[in-house]
Amino acid sequence: MNIKKLNLKNYKNIFIYGFGLSGKWFADNSDKKIKFFIDTDEKKSGRSHNGIQVLSINEAKKIISKQDLIIVSPVDIQDVEPVLKREFKEINWLALGVFLDGNDTKESKNYSNENLNFIQYSLNALEKCHKAYINKDKLFLRSVDIVISERCSLKCKDCSNLMQYYLRPKNFSYEQIKKEFNQLTENINHIFEVRLIGGEPFMNKEIYEIIDFFLINTKISKIVVYTNGTIPLKDERLKNYNKSKLVFTITDYGNLSKNTDKVYDALINNNVPTRLHPPENWTDSGVIQDFKRTEVEMKELFNICCGKNLLTSMNGKLYRCPFAANAESLKGIPTDEKNSVPINSSPEMIEKYTRDIEFIPACNYCKGRSFDAAEIVPAIQTTKPIDYKKYD
Ligand code: SF4
Ligand code: SF4
Repeated sequence: MNIKKLNLKNYKNIFIYGFGLSGKWFADNSDKKIKFFIDTDEKKSGRSHNGIQVLSINEAKKIISKQDLIIVSPVDIQDVEPVLKREFKEINWLALGVFLDGNDTKESKNYSNENLNFIQYSLNALEKCHKAYINKDKLFLRSVDIVISERCSLKCKDCSNLMQYYLRPKNFSYEQIKKEFNQLTENINHIFEVRLIGGEPFMNKEIYEIIDFFLINTKISKIVVYTNGTIPLKDERLKNYNKSKLVFTITDYGNLSKNTDKVYDALINNNVPTRLHPPENWTDSGVIQDFKRTEVEMKELFNICCGKNLLTSMNGKLYRCPFAANAESLKGIPTDEKNSVPINSSPEMIEKYTRDIEFIPACNYCKGRSFDAAEIVPAIQTTKPIDYKKYD
C-alpha cells in the first residue's frame, strides 16, 4: 500500500500513537516495521496487534529517543498534540491522515478482524480531520451528534445519554432538525460525520425523512445511525439510499431485543455498511449530581474526558457532549450559557467553543468519561424513570 510521501527511512524506530483501527491498519501496511503502539488508555497497555505491543505513555517515555518518530493515528488530533508537546517534547511526530489520499483498503493488508468498509470509513475520517487540523481550517467539524429523540425502546439505568431520567420524553420534528442544521451549516464549510442519536432514533417516525435530508446535504460526508436494533426497518426505504454516505451501527443487546437479526439482515441485504457489536466500554457516567467541584477540578475532569468532543446539537444549541445537552434539556443542571453556543453562532464563536475552552459548567454535575474509569455491567433495565433534582 502506497501511503504517499511518508518517508520513514531516516528514523530509527517508528511508534504509532493510538491503538485503534487506523493505527492497526497503518501497522499492517507500513514499509518499515513498527516498534510499539502508544496509547493514553492504560487498560490497553500490554495488549498487542500482529506482534506489536502497546505501551502506556510512561512506558514509552522510558525507551523512545530523538531519532525515533511517532505517527499519530487518532482522529481527535487536537487532544493528542498537547500530550505530545507535554510528554514527548523532543520527539518528532507526524499526523497519519495528512499522508492518506483516499486509500483503497481493498488492496491493503488487514490483520485485524474489522470489516474493510469500516477501516476505509475510519481512514477517510482520519484524512479529512488531520488535513483540516494541520491546515488550520476553522470551518471544519469532524462530527456532530444530532439528537432526534429523547425516547428509547429500552430503559438502561446507566445510559450515558441520560434517557433513564426522562419522564415525558419527546421526539424532535423533521422541520426543527432541518432548520437547526441549516443554521449550523450556514457558518461551517464541512462536517465529516453527522451521527443520528437518541434515545433510539427509530422511535421518531420521521427518521426516514431526516435520513433523506442528510443524505442529500452536500456539507456532510457521512451519516451514521446509532440504533439498539429493537425496531424493524422499512426495507423499501433502505433500497433507495445512497450507500456510500450511510453507515449503521447496531448495539446487540441480546435477549433485550428480538429484532436485532432482522434489523442487521435488512441492512446487509440492502448493502448498507453496518457494524454490529455488543455493548462496549460502559462506565458509571449516567449520573447527574452536584459534585461541588472547583474550577481546577472541572478542568482536570474535562482534560481526561473522552466525551468532550462529541459535539451535540439539541434544542437549537451546540454542546460539547450529549451529557450536557440532555442534562440541560432535563433541567437536571442549572441553565448556563457557557454550556453551549447557539446553533447559529458565528464561525469564530463555534471555533472558540469547540477548540479553545478548558471545561463547561456541566462538568460539575458529571462523573466524566475517562479512559481509566472502571467498566460496569451494561444495559441493566429500570422499570420507571429515575428521580433526580430539577433546577427551574
Ligand atoms: S443506552 Fe439504553 S437507554 Fe440509552 S439510548 Fe442506548 S438503548 Fe436507549
Ligand atoms: S460534562 Fe464535561 S466531563 Fe461530562 S461528558 Fe461532558 S465534557 Fe465530559
